[in-house]
Amino acid sequence: MENTIIKKLVILGGGTAGWMTAAMMARSLAGTVDITLVESDQIGTVGVGEATIPPILNFNRALGLDEAEFLRATNGTIKLGIQFENWSRRGESYMHAFGNVGKNFPFCDFHHFWLRSRASGHSDSYWDFSLNYQAAKQNKFAHLANIPNTNLPGLSYAYHFDAGLYAQYLRRYSESKGVKRVEGKVCDVRRNHHSGHVENLVLENGQVVEGDLFVDCSGFVGLLIDNAVGSDYESWSQWLPCDRAMAVPSESAGSIPPYTRSIAHACGWQWQIPLQHRTGKGLVYSSSHWSDEQAREVLLGNLPGKPLAEPRVIPFRTGHRREQWKKNVVSLGLASGFLEPLESTSIHLVQSGATRLVKCFPHRGIRAEEVAEFNRQSRVEMERIRDFIILHYKANQRRDSDFWRHCESMDVPESLQHKIELFRATGKVFRDYDDLFTEVAWQQVLIGQGVLPEDHHVIADGLSDAQLDDLLQSLKTLIQGSVRQLPTHEEFLSSLLAAG
Ligand code: FAD
Repeated sequence: MENTIIKKLVILGGGTAGWMTAAMMARSLAGTVDITLVESDQIGTVGVGEATIPPILNFNRALGLDEAEFLRATNGTIKLGIQFENWSRRGESYMHAFGNVGKNFPFCDFHHFWLRSRASGHSDSYWDFSLNYQAAKQNKFAHLANIPNTNLPGLSYAYHFDAGLYAQYLRRYSESKGVKRVEGKVCDVRRNHHSGHVENLVLENGQVVEGDLFVDCSGFVGLLIDNAVGSDYESWSQWLPCDRAMAVPSESAGSIPPYTRSIAHACGWQWQIPLQHRTGKGLVYSSSHWSDEQAREVLLGNLPGKPLAEPRVIPFRTGHRREQWKKNVVSLGLASGFLEPLESTSIHLVQSGATRLVKCFPHRGIRAEEVAEFNRQSRVEMERIRDFIILHYKANQRRDSDFWRHCESMDVPESLQHKIELFRATGKVFRDYDDLFTEVAWQQVLIGQGVLPEDHHVIADGLSDAQLDDLLQSLKTLIQGSVRQLPTHEEFLSSLLAAG
C-alpha cells in the first residue's frame, strides 16, 4: 500500500475514545476519508471517566458544540480544580486549581513574592491568591474572562460529565456528519502476510469491515495494537503503585461543588465527582496492599450519598504502548496506555492524540517519518504527565502505612527528581516543552505536598516591604471582591440549562 491514498478509516471501539475520535475525524476529514466505527454492545465500555481539564473546551469548540446543549446532554457540571485531601499529611488539604495564581511579573512568577512574604513571617496561604480556588470553595461560578477592571485572567474551567452520555452525544454528532456505525463483536483480524498491516475486521455475524488505516479504541484489551500488530506495553508500575479501581455511582449529597475531590486513604485514594443528578465515586488502590474486600469497606464507609449500584472492580496497568502507532494501527484511549485518573488526564490524551492524528494524517501511504513523529510526541506527552502524577505520591509526608512509606522512599524518574530538587533549593520550576501542566500547576502541587523552597527569586526582593504588603493585600481584596459578585454554581447551571 506504499502509495495508496488513505480513503477508508476504521475506528474500533465506541467508548469515549472511539466517539471522540470519530467526531474529530468527521469534523476535519469528512469528504476526503470514509469513516466507519465498529462497537460491540455485548462488550460495552469501561463506564468511568467523568472529570476533565480545561483543554476540553477547545475540543468542544473545535467541533462547534453549544455549551448549554452539551451540559444538558451529559448531566455536566463545572470543574475549577481538584482538591487533594490527606495527600501531604492526614487532615491537610490543598487544591490544584486551574488558571493563574496572583499576578505575573516579567521573568518572575508570583509565587516568589509569596515565598518572600512567607519568609518574613506572613501567614497568607498561597491559595488566597487563586481566583479559581476562592470561587471553588465558595461554590461560585460564571463565565469570567478577566477579573473586572483589570487585565488579570478570570476563571479557567473544565467539566465533570457522564462520559457514557458524552459518547452518545458525540455519536449523534458523528453520524450526522457521515460516520457509519457498525454494531458487532470483532472475532478475527486479518492482516496482509507481506506487510503485516491490518486489512479487515471480521465480525461474529460474518460481516467484514475493510480499512486502510485503523484506530484502535478497543479499551484495555488493545485488540489491534496489541493482539494484531504487537506493540509492546511499557509498565510504569514501579512509580505508580495503584493497579485497581472500584467505582460506584451514588446519590448527590446536597450542593454541587465545582471541583473534584481526591481523598487519600491508607493504601490509595478516593475520587468524588459531582454531576447534576448523582456523584461519581470510586477508589484507586494498590492490590499489593489492599484486598478488594478491604477496598470495598473503605469505599462504602466513606460514601456520604446512598450507592446507586454495586461497586465494580476495574483492574488496570499504568504505562503506555512503546509505539502508539504501529504499521497501519493507531491506538487511542485505554488501548494506547493508562495513567491513573488522579489528574483527570485520560480524556485529554484522547483529545490530543486524535488532534495529533489529524495533523499527521497520512495521505499517500503511511510514511515511517510521520509514524515516528506521532510516536515521539505521544511518548513525550505521556512522560510529562506521568512525572506530574508521580509527584503526588513521592512528595507525601504520611508515614502511617507501608504504602505511603514505600512511595516516599521509591526512586522516581530523573526528570522529576531534578524538578523537585530545583524547586526545593530555589523555588524555580519550569514548564518543559510539550508539558501539559503549567508552572502554576507544578507550583501548587509542589507547595501543596509540602515541598517548600529554601529561597525565592531575587526579583522578588525588588519590592520594599510596604510595596509587597500592598501587592498581596490588594490582590486578596480584588479576588474576594470578584468572587462575591459571582452567582453560585447551581444558579449558573440552572440559568444556562434553562436558556435556549
Ligand atoms: P472503553 O470505554 O473500554 O471502550 C472500548 C470500546 O471498544 C467499547 O465500545 C467496546 O465495545 C469496544 N470493543 C472492545 N473489544 C471489541 C470487540 N472485540 N469487538 C467490537 N468492539 C469491541 N479519564 C478522565 O479523563 N477523567 C477521569 O476522571 C477518569 N477516571 C477514570 C477512572 C478509572 C477507574 C478508569 C479505569 C479510567 C478513568 N478515566 C478517566 C479514563 C477514561 O475512562 C477512558 O480514558 C475513557 O473512557 C476512554 O475509554 P476507551 O474508549 O478507550 O475504552
